[in-house]
Amino acid sequence: MADVAVIGLGGMGSAAAWHLARRGATVVGFERFPEAHALGSSHGESRVIREAYFEDPAYVPLLRRAYDLWEETGKASQTTLLTLCGGLMMGRPDDDVVVGSTASARRWGIAHEVLDAGEIHHRWPQLTPAEGLVGLYEHRSGFVPPEASVRAHAALARRAGAELHFETAVTGWHREGQGFRVETAERDVHADRLVLAAGSWAGRWLGALGAALTVRRVPMFWFEADDWSRYEVGRLPVHVWDDPERLRLYGFPAHGDPAGGVKVAFFRAGGECDPDEVDRVVGDDEVDAMRRHLAARVPGLAGRCLDARVCLYTDSPDEHFVLGTHPEDDRIVVAAGFSGHGFKFVPVVGEICADLTLAGHTEHPVELFSPTRAALRSSG
Ligand SMILES: Cc1cc2nc3c(=O)[nH]c(=O)nc-3n(C[C@H](O)[C@H](O)[C@H](O)COP(=O)(O)OP(=O)(O)OC[C@H]3O[C@@H](n4cnc5c(N)ncnc54)[C@H](O)[C@@H]3O)c2cc1C
Repeated sequence: MADVAVIGLGGMGSAAAWHLARRGATVVGFERFPEAHALGSSHGESRVIREAYFEDPAYVPLLRRAYDLWEETGKASQTTLLTLCGGLMMGRPDDDVVVGSTASARRWGIAHEVLDAGEIHHRWPQLTPAEGLVGLYEHRSGFVPPEASVRAHAALARRAGAELHFETAVTGWHREGQGFRVETAERDVHADRLVLAAGSWAGRWLGALGAALTVRRVPMFWFEADDWSRYEVGRLPVHVWDDPERLRLYGFPAHGDPAGGVKVAFFRAGGECDPDEVDRVVGDDEVDAMRRHLAARVPGLAGRCLDARVCLYTDSPDEHFVLGTHPEDDRIVVAAGFSGHGFKFVPVVGEICADLTLAGHTEHPVELFSPTRAALRSSG
């Protein structure tokens, strides 16, 4: 008998398990795949973290808490979870990335610089922005490591007493007595409350709410650098390029093994897919498309593609998270629909899940993520 069962131990579920267990709850967690696997949304070595949030300034207070928790969790687990290397958000002056980042920076007093194309190229000759492009540079941007985060949160949760079962799929759950019976092939457990953090598989558990979510296939690429040392952390910031077609290229500074290549991807460029039947092979045409974009923007990377892997987005209609108590049962907390930009928030989402599960409310501003908002109903 557990206080809380967490379904899905990827990015969000592993953090929820830790925040619940550290507050003394009896936690049981289930994950259908091995720990820190590569079949969901939380793999591929790096995720951008940035504070001048172009999507909406309402995210900034959550980000500030997330930064603190990344530091704290890194120390507690003796893992480097937060690497700050600066971040450059580029586009034409009226593109969403530039307008939105500037609005967030001004609204929250975030230290930043605005640079024109010439200044950007002078400072980072690896980047070749077209004339007319501008960039907002923020010092506190950087990246966090998804697999290491899952491992760190799972280890901390276990140390605090959580019972975590990997390679154990939840096959169903039912209301029983005051709580729920959660079923797996090996065992059934009883829990008073549930946290549903099933990522791209969440739709199946959420009824009408689930119908509002769309799963997308998004490749990530690792290209060989013409000179690795020019791309290393300290020499190049995280960089995002807005685009009139919304095909946004973004890249990371080089870190880890030079034989692994430098990572780049497109933000929001994914075809709809079924998470169980998705094509995991990245095609030559996809690699060529990325290489063409690199040739115009980061030409020193536009050579050999060393690796490419598929990741999954779970998009809500308005691209805001779905995070709150379930509209039909307040003993169920839903953490889903992270729409391709959730990872940087992992520790604060874990904290919010613990607040909602154990106290029934949270001090964090989560109105934007309400599971009952109109945007979810209209397409549900
Ligand atoms: C290519 C790509 C780039 C991204 N870049 C960024 C970025 O730069 N910055 C950023 O902030 N975010 C980024 N994101 C988004 C971020 O990674 C996701 O929002 C986040 O990982 C979602 O975490 P999750 O826990 O919801 O999903 P997951 O980590 O996939 O976890 C869900 C888990 O539930 C498990 N599960 C499902 N069904 C069951 C079941 N029945 N029983 C047991 N377990 C089950 C799954 O196996 C899975 O492990 C990116 C995502 C992708 C794909």
